[in-house]
Amino acid sequence: MTQNQALRADGPPAGTGIAVDNPATGAVVGEVPDTSAEEVAQAVERARRAQRGWAELDTRARAAFFARGRRWLLAHREEIADLIVEENGKAREDAVVEIVYCASAFAYWAKQARGLLARTRIRSLSPFVLGRSMYTRRVPRGVVGVIGPWNNPLLNSFGDAVPALAAGNAVVLKPSEQTPLTALLMERMARECGWPKDVFQVVTGAGATGRAVVDTVDFVMFTGSTRTGRLVAARAGERLVPCSLELGGKDALVVLADANLERAVSVTIQGALSNGGQMCTSVERVYVEEPVYDAYLTLLRERFRQVTSGRPAGLGSVDVGAVTFPPQLAVIQDHVDDAVRKGARVLAGGHTPEGPGRFFEPTLLVDVDHGMKCMREETFGPTLPVMKVADAEEALRLVNDSTYGLQASIIGSDMKRARRLAERFEAGCVTINDAQTNYMALGLPMGGWKESGLGVRHGAEGFRKYTRLQAISTNRFPMRRDMHMIPYEPSAYRFVLRLVDAMYGTGLRRRAK
Ligand code: NAD
Repeated sequence: MTQNQALRADGPPAGTGIAVDNPATGAVVGEVPDTSAEEVAQAVERARRAQRGWAELDTRARAAFFARGRRWLLAHREEIADLIVEENGKAREDAVVEIVYCASAFAYWAKQARGLLARTRIRSLSPFVLGRSMYTRRVPRGVVGVIGPWNNPLLNSFGDAVPALAAGNAVVLKPSEQTPLTALLMERMARECGWPKDVFQVVTGAGATGRAVVDTVDFVMFTGSTRTGRLVAARAGERLVPCSLELGGKDALVVLADANLERAVSVTIQGALSNGGQMCTSVERVYVEEPVYDAYLTLLRERFRQVTSGRPAGLGSVDVGAVTFPPQLAVIQDHVDDAVRKGARVLAGGHTPEGPGRFFEPTLLVDVDHGMKCMREETFGPTLPVMKVADAEEALRLVNDSTYGLQASIIGSDMKRARRLAERFEAGCVTINDAQTNYMALGLPMGGWKESGLGVRHGAEGFRKYTRLQAISTNRFPMRRDMHMIPYEPSAYRFVLRLVDAMYGTGLRRRAK
């Protein structure tokens, strides 16, 4: 019996659960509970109790649980990939990427946690704290609520639970109601690997369940749309609990005149169509310098037409799978129709094919401009608008002409020029001669600017956000009284001022000469 059949068999009574369908066939493949706010509060309370013991374990002991999890993940990779493909509709290769990401996340955060959580000695030059020994320490926040989207049921949900757990927190994960089954499989992983009870829990449900998570946890790690991100931030603000928001994008790719065009086309196609274009870091608009526009487009068009799409099966069956979220089909079609109405030409695709399941043909658009939705709003589908620009300066202006600022990419040969351009992009993440690869580099912080988010995941910053900082100072040689103590002694302040003047004032200036 498969996991989702089990869920169906043991699931809630009809009418109280959420049905999960296979986007490639339309068949219902599972049903999960629609968890109430009260049940979420109870789960968080259990997590709070379990977290104390988890936090007391040292990082090596937590790493041992992660090692078991990693081995379980790899041993069950076929089952996990089947489930991701079944509930999300993506190509199997894209499901494999999620599994590889989580296996390496287990290994990476287990190894890094000790160093990232270590105490830091602090020195101060202030005359008021002379002789104090000072340090900062990291304390887990408690219960972290991870709320995930549907485009990566493992990577953008469980993937963020791993560093939170490594930092000593318990996690309550609320996966997307579109793709909750993979997260439940991870709950099974925790059970079968003997993880302490309730340290990792999954609560399934829709927006109301997500709201209940935000209402009860100590930190919110949210991945989803900018619209929902604002609601999460507002509620977290009311509660004064911190949140980290990984939101939407309209990622641009710039092809410079000195680019290797074969590479440019490979990166473009991968960036635009992997995961069916349903990635926050999908390349959603391309700007090509005029001298290479025709050659690039000829090659791109040829390669675009070779892309296969349809119902995913095993490895090698299809490049582009289904459209996961039903309302997204209408958004994709609307962006294509709007562009065509305003003068764009469709060089490939452009429609929803006939047949069962939800699909959109890989679509290439040219003669586009920033008056069109396809250049300004997140499409989140297998479509790609390409625009000719006079030079890199025009490309830069257009890249930055966006409310989003997640990722931007450059293809070019002159690295100095490419880097100079990269640093002028208003995006939290820039790749040169690549697209999307930063996500796999767990040591590299990744987060959106502007309406693409708040905070980062990955890197030291993306890990330490799951901790509170405590600063401790010790006066190891306490005197009867300090210089700055009531009753005030004018001579002490004259001394302090002479000292400060020598350190930072005229004395310093004289020495500098
Ligand atoms: P969504 O915002 O509709 O939903 C995301 C999650 O939030 C779901 O689990 C949903 O049930 C929950 N939710 C809904 N209302 C809520 C509320 N009021 N309070 C708390 N939780 C609530 O997003 P989606 O459609 O599932 O995902 C697609 C979006 O995610 C795209 O915009 C995409 O760019 C973005 N995304 C961003 C990243 C990133 O790292 N920046 C990664 C993947 C996806």
